[in-house]
Amino acid sequence: MPPRSRTSTGKAAKAESAAKGLRLRKPKAPDIHDIVVVGAGLAGLAQARMLQQRGFTIHLIDPRERDSLRAPSADRRATALTPASVQLLDLPVDWLAAKGQRIESIVVDAGLAPALSEDEALRLSSGAWVVGNADLYAFLVEHTVLDGRFGQAVTGSRVEAGRRRLTMASGDPVEARVVVAADGRNSILRREDGIQRQQQDFRQIALTGVIRHEDPHAGRAFQRFLHGGTFALLPLPADDGGEGHASSVIWVEPSASAKGLFALEPSILTERMQSRFGDALGRLSKTDNEDWGQFPLLAHSCDRIIGERLALIGEAAHSIHPLAGQGLNLSIRDAAALTDTLMEQRHYGLDPGDAQALERYQRARRAETARMTGLTIGLNSLFSRPGGPLRAAAAVGLRALDQMGPIKALLEREARR
Ligand SMILES: Cc1cc2nc3c(=O)[nH]c(=O)nc-3n(C[C@H](O)[C@H](O)[C@H](O)COP(=O)(O)OP(=O)(O)OC[C@H]3O[C@@H](n4cnc5c(N)ncnc54)[C@H](O)[C@@H]3O)c2cc1C
Repeated sequence: MPPRSRTSTGKAAKAESAAKGLRLRKPKAPDIHDIVVVGAGLAGLAQARMLQQRGFTIHLIDPRERDSLRAPSADRRATALTPASVQLLDLPVDWLAAKGQRIESIVVDAGLAPALSEDEALRLSSGAWVVGNADLYAFLVEHTVLDGRFGQAVTGSRVEAGRRRLTMASGDPVEARVVVAADGRNSILRREDGIQRQQQDFRQIALTGVIRHEDPHAGRAFQRFLHGGTFALLPLPADDGGEGHASSVIWVEPSASAKGLFALEPSILTERMQSRFGDALGRLSKTDNEDWGQFPLLAHSCDRIIGERLALIGEAAHSIHPLAGQGLNLSIRDAAALTDTLMEQRHYGLDPGDAQALERYQRARRAETARMTGLTIGLNSLFSRPGGPLRAAAAVGLRALDQMGPIKALLEREARR
């Protein structure tokens, strides 16, 4: 057989590789970064902003397109940010004045009487700020440099050659010396790393939304520990420059009864709300343009919140019962602790993904997360049981607490952390 000419062999090879290219696109060389934050929810954005403010360059990844991150959020919930969180997020005073409502006091009641009585209730001082989740989200998006991959989900990860490699739905991998998993409750990074978690299903659903009331809230937040679940109101900022007549509701009921109850027609549901709460704020009414959301309540905590070149923050690391309003506050403190660790590494010219450094981050977060998880599970199970001596004792305990200066001060300090 005559030898093939060099030209025809070259052409054939080119044609073959072009055909292969059609079938199998060669992935691009991975993008390599120092720090990648996976998840642009409230926790991931808070983390990215804190690090950027200290001069770090952050690569963010989220399955949503960049433009949809900038679109107004549909989250109708509000969060009570502790003074420590306000400081850690570096929220400007004029922004807080425009978008936030300071909580002057929290009125807590054990729910033994049909309606809340302020004379009988425990009154805690606070200093927390209520902000709408949508407003907070918009602030963080506006004040974070959105560099990274958007419209693409992480599908897996592994460690090789001193880096964590993230595989992406798009096929082009991303590598980092350290990856921050802020990818929420069902974190793929946590699952892929084999991190075990303990889960508790409270078999409760929270109804959340905005309610208007006849009387001004005067900065009061309310929390009723009713059997079946808590009923809480957080004061919202006045939208008309006058006194605040709207509050954010978090109404928790057992799942079995919640399904029918929360499906009731809004005016009937508002009546039921009034009967759970009483008339401390006058007549309650629902605005037509506000949707109420429903959230099944679960808590989880993890055996560890770090892996090789991996740190978990926010709901990827933990979720707690919302009765203490501390879930996001915990996440903000995760982000602050990790920021401190990464700054220390940079200060000494060390690897940001070093195992001992990540161990320090984990140690810094362990005690507080465990305390808050235990406290919220304990309070929920103590108060959500119907009747019985334990519940009555707990109610007396609340009233007795009011007389005990040092213990009350301790509770108030806990609410401010
Ligand atoms: C009813 C209710 C009331 C609450 N009230 C309060 C309160 O008053 N105070 C308080 O402090 N906290 C409160 N919380 C808790 C708070 O809302 C949450 O802690 C917080 O919103 C969770 O933020 P996150 O960023 O960790 O998770 P998420 O909001 O779930 O964000 C996860 C992000 O990761 C992205 N993502 C997911 N998968 C991938 C992937 N494979 N690749 C890349 N990105 C991915 C998602 O797109 C998303 O942007 C409440 C919670 C509930 C349910």
